[in-house]
Amino acid sequence: MKKGEGIYDLVVIGAGTAGLVTAAGTAGLGGRVALIERNLMGGDCLNFGCVPSKALISSARLIQEIRESEKWGLDQQEPQFVFEKIFERMRERRAKIAPHDSRERFESLGVDVFHGEARFVSPQEIEINISPSPQSSPPGRGGNPASGEVQRLRAKNFVIATGSRATIPTIEGINNVPYFTNETIFDGLKGKPENMIVLGGGPIGCELAQTFCRLGTQVTIIQRGEQLLPREDRDVAEFLERRLINEGVRVIKNVDARAVATSDAGNVTLEFLDRQSGGLAERTVFADALLVATGRSPNLEGLDLKSAGVEFNERGLRVTDYLQTSQRHIYAAGDVIGPFLFTHMADAQARVVVRNILMPFQFLRQKMNYSVVPWCTYTDPEVAHVGLGEKEAQQRNLDYDLFVVLLEDIDRAVVESEEAGFGKILTQKGSDKILGATIVAPHAGDLLHEFVLAMKAGIGLATIASTIHAYPTFAELARKAGDKYNRTRLTPTAKKLFAWLYARAGK
Ligand SMILES: Cc1cc2nc3c(=O)[nH]c(=O)nc-3n(C[C@H](O)[C@H](O)[C@H](O)COP(=O)(O)OP(=O)(O)OC[C@H]3O[C@@H](n4cnc5c(N)ncnc54)[C@H](O)[C@@H]3O)c2cc1C
Repeated sequence: MKKGEGIYDLVVIGAGTAGLVTAAGTAGLGGRVALIERNLMGGDCLNFGCVPSKALISSARLIQEIRESEKWGLDQQEPQFVFEKIFERMRERRAKIAPHDSRERFESLGVDVFHGEARFVSPQEIEINISPSPQSSPPGRGGNPASGEVQRLRAKNFVIATGSRATIPTIEGINNVPYFTNETIFDGLKGKPENMIVLGGGPIGCELAQTFCRLGTQVTIIQRGEQLLPREDRDVAEFLERRLINEGVRVIKNVDARAVATSDAGNVTLEFLDRQSGGLAERTVFADALLVATGRSPNLEGLDLKSAGVEFNERGLRVTDYLQTSQRHIYAAGDVIGPFLFTHMADAQARVVVRNILMPFQFLRQKMNYSVVPWCTYTDPEVAHVGLGEKEAQQRNLDYDLFVVLLEDIDRAVVESEEAGFGKILTQKGSDKILGATIVAPHAGDLLHEFVLAMKAGIGLATIASTIHAYPTFAELARKAGDKYNRTRLTPTAKKLFAWLYARAGK
């Protein structure tokens, strides 16, 4: 059948992780799929999110290591680098990954790719305003509609995978000052800013604040709440905050941003109410760049969900456990539905959608399971988390045991001069069942997965303790947590029994 004609098994709106995984998965099972993207294939993760940020973080880490070279016995030295070249390298790394998400690859998988903005015209039909694609096959080739044309597509199922964008806070003057978001900072920055205000101290704000600071920009984080990384336990957030401050990041918390403006010198000024200083003092910070990282909003505008009969409210789109909207044949996945805005979550949800589209009956469909969700903030050290932290366990009135392992007790961390950090493992009170783990360490995101798998497979800390771990590795952190758990099993009765056994053995 010609591209665009007939009835598709699935039309996917948005070619970020959620859309790409659903499109590839369904096409791989033999379904006829159309995929629509209005901007760049790969969505936020590839173009404006995970990939460019982690590429910059990698360069910034090396720069910082050179700056701290005495820790490794080298002479003190200042890293030599050109800011723009660090960004060029980031783009080159990103370009290396891009073919995986490209239009060509998806067309080779049998997916019909359209470039343009999609909107529903009925529950079974969408309309695309075709626009020129930065990565397109030429118009006319392979039945590609030309820019400016309107293409209608009909399908049995749809997936809304339109992602999210930076929330722009309602601050006086915000529309009159230049600011960056994640969509513009990686490609729109022309040279190194001398100073930068990062509005928002969540994961994105903290990662980029540390990165720019290491690249030589004076960074101020403005955080509304009383801790950075609000989802983490307070001790975890405070540990990271101290690290950022030691590296030169200025952190201002407990404030309400009030107004922004451009000064005569061309700087951005931010006025805020400082709630911490007892009264409500008004203060101002100046910078030549402003980065807004105050949260995310779902991309729903322009989809004309009313025409599709899909229910939504100001908080967004609601889906069932099966990821169906109020129209059963219209699914949604990824950032547009949350509740966890991560690439791996978009991927996991997309896999559930692929399966559920294929299943003819509701009872055969799979529910989305959020019981074991890992995440990582890629600051240095990384902050990785799965399951419950102390804060959440307390909020839920759960009794728990806590096992803390310091990195200074891990030989590998000591020889690597990386002993600042720790792991916190929560278990169900009196048992080795793991409720959650938070690791603050280099490569914490990788280390975490021993706990992720353990939680998923129902493996307890005692089993981790009895598993041989290679020496010397950071992974010994998990075994040491297990050892700590085992020591709690040494009850007074067990101690008496062992004493008796030792006494007998001596006879
Ligand atoms: C700076 C930053 C760093 C991040 N780092 C990490 C990380 O390290 N690890 C991690 O797991 N997550 C990270 N994330 C989050 C991650 O990027 C997102 O969770 C992920 O991209 C969500 O994928 P998605 O498919 O839901 O949406 P998106 O990737 O946003 O894709 C949605 C796509 O839909 C398109 N679209 C929207 N509306 C329409 C329409 N009407 N018609 C056609 N197309 C449309 C958009 O153009 C977009 O390309 C980061 C995010 C940011 C901003």
